[in-house]
Amino acid sequence: TTIAIVKERAAGESRVAATPETVRKLIKLGAHVRVETGAGDTASITDTDFADAGAQVGDLAAIMQGANVVLGVQAPALELLQGAAPGARIAAIFDPFGRRDLINDYAAAGLEGLAMELMPRITRAQSMDVLSSQSNLAGYKAVLACADNFGRAFPMMMTAAGTITAARVFIMGVGVAGLQAIATAKRLGAQVSATDVRSATREQIQSLGAKPIFVDSVAGIEGEGSGGYATEMGEEYRLAQAELVSSHIAKQDIVITTALIPGRAAPRLVTDAQIATMKNGSVIFDLAVAQGGNVEGSQPDRLVERHGVKIIGYANTPAHLATDASALLARNFLNFLSAFWDEAAGEPVLDDEIGTAIRLTQGGRIVHPRLLEQGN
Ligand code: NAD
Repeated sequence: TTIAIVKERAAGESRVAATPETVRKLIKLGAHVRVETGAGDTASITDTDFADAGAQVGDLAAIMQGANVVLGVQAPALELLQGAAPGARIAAIFDPFGRRDLINDYAAAGLEGLAMELMPRITRAQSMDVLSSQSNLAGYKAVLACADNFGRAFPMMMTAAGTITAARVFIMGVGVAGLQAIATAKRLGAQVSATDVRSATREQIQSLGAKPIFVDSVAGIEGEGSGGYATEMGEEYRLAQAELVSSHIAKQDIVITTALIPGRAAPRLVTDAQIATMKNGSVIFDLAVAQGGNVEGSQPDRLVERHGVKIIGYANTPAHLATDASALLARNFLNFLSAFWDEAAGEPVLDDEIGTAIRLTQGGRIVHPRLLEQGN
């Protein structure tokens, strides 16, 4: 089996789908590994590093010729896959419900598209879960970006010139990114509080030494959907949450929002009217800005000022930590390929529920149930 790793073409994408460490391990499995020239440049990995690990480094045409497996951070456009073996498998982050054009292309070309972000949330697949590995880093980076844009310090400091108070940081949405944001803000010495619709997060917030802020007035709402993901909340809950958040948010210096609902636009958590109640100089980071935004007025990669409050959010937060983001992503790919590696066949054989969950196209057709439901 020949595995090709392409250089990313998307604007602002600095990550790469393999590292010298994972190249070595893929070769140990029995694969031939090829890496496109310059693929690791933006993640501080040189062509020599890849070559020393045993990869064949070359231009796109050379690495693609006869490739059976192609790894990309973001799914490569069809024209980049010219020369790949018939039925080649392309594992990448696809944005499957937003990129129907690309998926149609893959189907027509007979390629097998594997969307890594559809990895099921089962224990066995945890080490292959790109959403978790990248969200964790994003939560960390969001806190640093806030600290950098804040005119005050995070920790309380007692100095000869007087005392400065600790910053108040509020995290909305306590999934993987939110938990890391809480931990990072705590390490910087802030006073941290957090909220989520899933009541299971209350204990997690407390165990990190932060204060849980929860809607208790609306009975019977658990907020936990399939696979540990959130579901959309009812109107009554939304109103109660908005009221609670309004009173809390006015006292915060930093707000970081992380709420996502899979396959839908991000829920609106912070309105312009709420922003108006915040202190001058406060900072909001919207980690969902690329999915429509949790915060009214937020814009990808722009600093927006509203009512004296800075609103920030990156279109691609993990790309701001390219080296570590690549290292974890590359291990996700490696763990995935090695879990399914069939020694006799000398290639991965993807025949179980994980394959079904992530396979978009195969044999000239779209095969993913949710894409079929969606129609053209
Ligand atoms: P996510 O990125 O889908 O969403 C981020 C958080 O926002 C979630 O905690 C969600 O509940 C919350 N949220 C959604 N709507 C909200 C609203 N209106 N107000 C406030 N918060 C809202 O979530 P995630 O980071 O992927 O993690 C979700 C859960 O899945 C976690 O418990 C995580 O530990 C678990 N998980 C399990 C596995 C596995 O077992 N393989 C892998 C990854 C994550």
